[in-house]
Amino acid sequence: MAKIKQLPLHEAQKIAAGQVVERPANVVKELLENAIDAKATHISISIEDGGKQLIRVVDNGSGMDREDAKLCFEKHATSKISTVDELPSLTTFGFRGEALASIAAVSKVSLLTKEQSATEGLHVTAQEGTIQIEPAGCPQGTDVTIRDLFYNMPARAKFLKKRETETRHIIHTVQAMAFAYPHLHVHLSVDGKQLINCPPQDTMLQRCVQLWDATAAKHMLSIEATRSDKGISLCGAISNHQWFRYDRSGIFFLVNNRWVTNVQLGRSLLKGYNNVIPRGRYPMAAISIMINPALIDVNTHPRKEEIIFAHPRTMEQLIRETIRKALEQHTSKQIKKEVSLYLPPSNTRSSSSSVLFTPASFASVEKDIASFKESLPATATAPKAYASFNGSSQSTPTTSQEIETKTIPIIDTTQKAHTVIGQFSKTYILIEQEDGLFLIDQHAAHERILYEQFSQQFQNMPTINLMFPQMISCSAQDLALLESHLELFKEHGITIEPFSKDQLIIQSTPVHLKNAPLQEIVHQVIGWIKELSNVDKEQFHKMIHDKLRAQMACKAAVKAGDILTQTQMQELIKDLHVAPNRFSCPHGRPTGWMLPLYDIEKKFRRKT
Ligand code: ADP
Ligand code: MG
Repeated sequence: MAKIKQLPLHEAQKIAAGQVVERPANVVKELLENAIDAKATHISISIEDGGKQLIRVVDNGSGMDREDAKLCFEKHATSKISTVDELPSLTTFGFRGEALASIAAVSKVSLLTKEQSATEGLHVTAQEGTIQIEPAGCPQGTDVTIRDLFYNMPARAKFLKKRETETRHIIHTVQAMAFAYPHLHVHLSVDGKQLINCPPQDTMLQRCVQLWDATAAKHMLSIEATRSDKGISLCGAISNHQWFRYDRSGIFFLVNNRWVTNVQLGRSLLKGYNNVIPRGRYPMAAISIMINPALIDVNTHPRKEEIIFAHPRTMEQLIRETIRKALEQHTSKQIKKEVSLYLPPSNTRSSSSSVLFTPASFASVEKDIASFKESLPATATAPKAYASFNGSSQSTPTTSQEIETKTIPIIDTTQKAHTVIGQFSKTYILIEQEDGLFLIDQHAAHERILYEQFSQQFQNMPTINLMFPQMISCSAQDLALLESHLELFKEHGITIEPFSKDQLIIQSTPVHLKNAPLQEIVHQVIGWIKELSNVDKEQFHKMIHDKLRAQMACKAAVKAGDILTQTQMQELIKDLHVAPNRFSCPHGRPTGWMLPLYDIEKKFRRKT
């Protein structure tokens, strides 16, 4: 008996639709692309229930006339190409004429549209293959409303994730579009609340500030690079080594203005950050790559999200090196600002090889050594001390692994004799040890000590009542947002209560925080609550506690520039010695660094 049956058209269409529309964020992306193709300059998106109930995209683009408005829901109906030969010169997102047909197959769609020259607009509804069209009053542009996604495909609807997760995907999609088109005015409201409102901007950096938060301006670095021989240029903004996330949601790659996911691009980015940010943390980055279209293939995926490069290695190298250089430049500027170490003038060594205070410079050690080696004369005329540094001595570090073990071990107060020499540059504690000079960054070290204490004393923090309770002003919206999170502060020993509609009062704090800028901490927490609003509850809890502790530790810790007494230095060293994770501060900077006696002696040519 014959087994093959031809599926009814509407069933086949539903199945085909699944390729284009897997989740609400895909619908949002298709509608945004259509609006951009229609030359819109203002796009407004509203969603409800993670896009499952409602997705509405309103644009001020070209709009459609009656005939197009009727045709646009037909399969393979596109205004963007007429023959396949036009594909190579295509400048629009769409060309398959599949999106609206697919969306209409699995949801209830209505559309308002009007061309500039038309006297009146049109209202089109599409459901179960029937199209109705009638005149309507509306502004120029197109207003698409999608309701009840997958209402007729319960099996697929079941696979949709909960509201927060789908919302997160949509926000990510909208952010990507806003990055790809900085000159667009983008607006997003989620369940009736405005979440994004981004007027046009000139740079990626300004976009970051709009889309993330105002602190982005402080932490993002602009990047730019070109490989004209390979037809590639890139520009964008990346976070410095002090700003990172717990997931990849702050990473965006745009290739010829198209948001793409490409594992290799992400990997190249992380390689650029190698050793600079702590493990398990991810940078924030929005990178726009312009490349000769002949050198890429974007048609490998039905949703055109993936991309294949003709020269993947060149691309990787360009991204990695651009990022590495930007971070290096930034850290060396910071180092210059923070410390000015006296270094004996030397024409063979660059000063940066001796200034090892940031993770970034740890990463560059190997490179420094390599360039150092290169700068040495190849013959035996090299001074003996340097000749041994050049690899002939067993005890000389030549690999990054050896260097790591030599730079990172912290002072061992139990085993070896040590003397606190004093404070250098009001920032570093100098300790004489049998086998070298140990330097501790007093702020980083104290931050780590306090962070660990705050973690251990969680919910049991010794507190003091403030003689003069601190008043904190914030907007009524922020106060409302904070109200459901006051417990978070309480668990960390900060008693905070609403005082008026836009003021909070702090009655008590942990002992260490009694002189800290509490206003700053509270505002920072408000920022995080907003930033993490779409993170799962459990992860939110973990992340926000972690961040709050780090912030409290940072604000309560001694600062660079604070003068410490001998006793205070001794205390700090003792506490650091027993602190877990004592090698770095909660932001990932090293707390201490060893200058081996052997190396010092070599510098003075006492040792060869
Ligand atoms: P494609 O974008 O691949 O052409 P779609 O199904 O997404 O296919 O859209 C079909 C057609 O409907 C488009 O080619 C375009 O002519 C028209 N269209 C869709 N959305 C809009 C919009 N927001 N503004 C103007 N025209 C639109
Ligand atoms: Mg389209």
